[in-house]
Amino acid sequence: MTDDNCKHEWIAYGTALVPPTILVHCQLCSKRGGVLQPTEEEWALAYHAPSRPYLWADGSKVVLEADLPQPTQEQLDMLSRFLKGETERE
Ligand SMILES: [Zn+2]
Repeated sequence: MTDDNCKHEWIAYGTALVPPTILVHCQLCSKRGGVLQPTEEEWALAYHAPSRPYLWADGSKVVLEADLPQPTQEQLDMLSRFLKGETERE
């Protein structure tokens, strides 16, 4: 599939603090992005994303990775474990 045709199903999997950004990953095309300047409510939810990744519904707020700080290796490892379904236990 080409990226241009992807409808992007974003999974929120972490946060970056500077600037406050919710990190997301498309489970269809594997692109990464982020949500800049999240609301307080969004930020509170995303606080748990590293241990409980969740579907990010509002794709219009996602900025693609090229314009964002890079995620840490720890975040990428967590994401890859999640995508393999290995985060079952709390
Ligand atoms: Zn996508």
